Amino acid sequence: MESDKRARVEAWLRYGADLELGPYYRNRVATGSTPPSNANSTSQTSELAHPAMSAAARTPSAGSSAGLPPVAASLPAAVASGRSSTAVPFAQAPSLFEASDRIKDDTFQLIRETIGDCTRCKLHKARTNIVFGVGSMKAELVFVGEGPGHDEDIKGEPFVGRAGKLLTQMIEAMGLRREDVYICNVVKCRPPENRLPEKDEITTCSPFLFRQIDVIRPKVICALGSCASQTLLQTTQGISRFRGEWFDFRGSKLIATYHPAYLLRNPSAKSEVWKDLQKVMAVLGLQPKRK
Ligand code: URA
Repeated sequence: MESDKRARVEAWLRYGADLELGPYYRNRVATGSTPPSNANSTSQTSELAHPAMSAAARTPSAGSSAGLPPVAASLPAAVASGRSSTAVPFAQAPSLFEASDRIKDDTFQLIRETIGDCTRCKLHKARTNIVFGVGSMKAELVFVGEGPGHDEDIKGEPFVGRAGKLLTQMIEAMGLRREDVYICNVVKCRPPENRLPEKDEITTCSPFLFRQIDVIRPKVICALGSCASQTLLQTTQGISRFRGEWFDFRGSKLIATYHPAYLLRNPSAKSEVWKDLQKVMAVLGLQPKRK
């Protein structure tokens, strides 16, 4: 797109964002065939979550995987039968606007080399390791979190602490292994004291995340928590307004759900997350793990 036209479009989008009209990425076709995100589960709460998630959410901190119960045998019938409501069309190719931002022939190696020993934002000062991401470059499913915590900073790998163990159990409950998916974060260095990443840090680091997603081209992106969802959808709306709904993101389908760390604090929300994961499973043709 010519730069003056692009600037005009961007100005309109900013104006819309100021009026809180976004996000603009909503796949209205898909959304129309998806039940409202807040379809309530008033009569069924925690029983609706996969037992593996219940188990992890109850596990005390510092948990090694040895301390976590295995994925449980079966799902409640209400959960298993819920899959039919999630038949949604796949996202099509990216719009011209998005495609023009892609870097031709990009690779993870190139992205990692470009990041280098990054000092672009203040997060570099206290970090031990840059946490690039982990998993399969051919993954159909990408999970995006917020930023590394203490354990991740030390190990250089995302989601290896307590929330990470719950995420692993969520992945396994979906019938996948951690190595089948790709896991990364909005920012690649640990925010001090696990504070939220700040706007300038997100603006500086998120282009690398977008490049990773562009290289993988997953069928589905699952944004974990507010920071990831708001960054990817470019909205300031609270996650509870749009979690569980489908959006298009650069040619992938995107769904937002609550962060595993939130689930550790609020185990009752696990049933909502399990519903969201079931929508992902329906799109990917996955069956929940059974013993
Ligand atoms: N929380 C995140 O958002 N990312 C991690 O890598 C770990 C915890």
